[in-house]
Amino acid sequence: MSDSYSNQLGGSSGGRRRSVGRMVRGRSRMGCTTRIIIALVIIGFAYVKMRMGSREEVNPYTGDPQRISLSPDQEHALGLQAAGQMEAQHGGPSRDERATARVNAVGLKLVQHIDKLLQPGAKSIKYEFAFHLLADDQLINAFALPGGQVFITEALYGKVQNDDQLAGVLGHEIGHVIARHSNEQMTKNGFLQGIGTAAGVLAGGDDLFSSQQVSGLVSHVLTTKYGRTDELESDEIGARLMLHAGYDPREILGVMEILKQAGGSGGQIEMLSTHPLPESRIERLKNEVLPGLGVSVE
Ligand SMILES: [Zn+2]
Repeated sequence: MSDSYSNQLGGSSGGRRRSVGRMVRGRSRMGCTTRIIIALVIIGFAYVKMRMGSREEVNPYTGDPQRISLSPDQEHALGLQAAGQMEAQHGGPSRDERATARVNAVGLKLVQHIDKLLQPGAKSIKYEFAFHLLADDQLINAFALPGGQVFITEALYGKVQNDDQLAGVLGHEIGHVIARHSNEQMTKNGFLQGIGTAAGVLAGGDDLFSSQQVSGLVSHVLTTKYGRTDELESDEIGARLMLHAGYDPREILGVMEILKQAGGSGGQIEMLSTHPLPESRIERLKNEVLPGLGVSVE
């Protein structure tokens, strides 16, 4: 239901355009101060609307303050509800039981070390992670839903050369989950507005979120590109988890090479869906992240 999402955005900007039109027509009669006050009221109203239902919290793993709308329980419920739809869009779950078990084992090994990333004095969030291998053998991709549902396609799985590279992919996606990037991004663009309230109202039922909200989330996660900061942050979280779990974090560089080659064939790949390009991420990993972890490169 990406349509309802875009309609929502279109509706509000249409309203703003109308207000601006009235201001322009009344310009000759209005003093400069009045116009400024009206402009401030409009900006203030938009700001209040954006902040409604959201709150600022310091992320316990990154230490960064962030504005979010969903509690960890709500993230988990939303992710769980959306997982089936996400699988269905990528050919369903893989039939390769051995490969599925391997994805699960590597993923779960990484998440055992998440608490080692906690900031001093911070309280951990108990995410219930689940790792899914998807039957899609065409689209090289991996992604995560808020709350801990992590996915990798058979196409990408088939490219990774060892457990360390698989850990590199899954660690990056775990990074998006614990840094709560989806929650933060959806809050920023107004997508989660009202969802917290709706979830509270519907809390008695089996499903916390309406099917429309779930569909909206699925298309949001599949189409929204994370920003540069989010990608770099997830790379770093992934590298640190790998090190704690006994994987070689230098193998992330191999993952970047896979993504670089896959990038030429088009398609939407979460791990390189936006700037920074793999080259600049490789540079940062080599020059900052890995040396920062005491890992020598070359
Ligand atoms: Zn990413």
